[in-house]
Amino acid sequence: MITHLRLKAYGKINLGLDVLGRREDGYHEVRMIMQTVRLHDSIDLYRTREPGIRLETNLYYLPTNEQNLAYRAAKLLMDEFGIREGVSMHLRKFIPVSAGMAGGSTDAASVLFGVNKMFGLGLGVRALMERGVTLGADIPYCLMRGTALSEGIGEKLTALPPVPQCQVLIAKPGISVSTKVVYEALDAMELKPEQHPDIDGMIRAIREKDLHRVAGKFGNVLELVTAGRYPVIGQIEQAMLECGAENAMMSGSGPTVFGLFTNPRAAEAAYEALRFGKYAKLAKQVYLTGFYNVKRD
Ligand code: ATP
Repeated sequence: MITHLRLKAYGKINLGLDVLGRREDGYHEVRMIMQTVRLHDSIDLYRTREPGIRLETNLYYLPTNEQNLAYRAAKLLMDEFGIREGVSMHLRKFIPVSAGMAGGSTDAASVLFGVNKMFGLGLGVRALMERGVTLGADIPYCLMRGTALSEGIGEKLTALPPVPQCQVLIAKPGISVSTKVVYEALDAMELKPEQHPDIDGMIRAIREKDLHRVAGKFGNVLELVTAGRYPVIGQIEQAMLECGAENAMMSGSGPTVFGLFTNPRAAEAAYEALRFGKYAKLAKQVYLTGFYNVKRD
């Protein structure tokens, strides 16, 4: 009997993000190139005799009830399968919150995976994805991981070959952005065709394993909104480029910015400059990480 599982819930960045339109039900049709990074939250899952779900986190401002996606993920499976025992979860957050890195979604994906395993529910990854998408559009991808094209509202996933390994510098400015507000502002804009990123070109560059061209194809339609409102996003990108990044861009609805580096020394120097040096005022959280390409199947 499994009584304890330690799960790593990895964050993601978007190498490309296009929004095709808004559906009747309010969801947006997207085309996104998703990439898992090694930066992860850690979740300890304990099986308890006492029924119910308990959640603790290291961040005082995060909810620990049904408003937390990790809690909802556990509840979804425990209700459906009538599990009489309980679970206790200890969530340690390292992925920046409200940052465009799918932190909540990846916690939920890991809890679905963990509860399924702990109680021997016998669900495959596909079955977990079908349940996960009812909690959040990015959860199916977080169950899958690696490099992928995400379409529909996020439930249509196509695995892509891994992007060549490099250094990924992540910097989150000290501002909070509401995903909902960003999408609403985008809906009110009339985009010209050239404002949409070349997702197909990005896919070709990934298939050809050409990191330089992948970086050249960066594009995120939500940057038009978020970077328009917060100049610090463009300033962080500029700082990363000056430090030798192949390219730099905002992830998701922001405000996190990431840069890809092929020179480890330049990446280290950029990390230092953003963390402690001349660009330290721009970013509140800075991480130097890399791609994570181990898929769950
Ligand atoms: P996305 O990239 O999917 O847009 P995000 O990075 O913008 O996600 P999250 O960090 O996933 O945003 O979560 C943002 C909001 O969700 C916060 O207001 C937070 O209170 C709530 N939330 C619920 N559960 C979690 C969780 N497990 N981790 C982080 N935030 C959570």
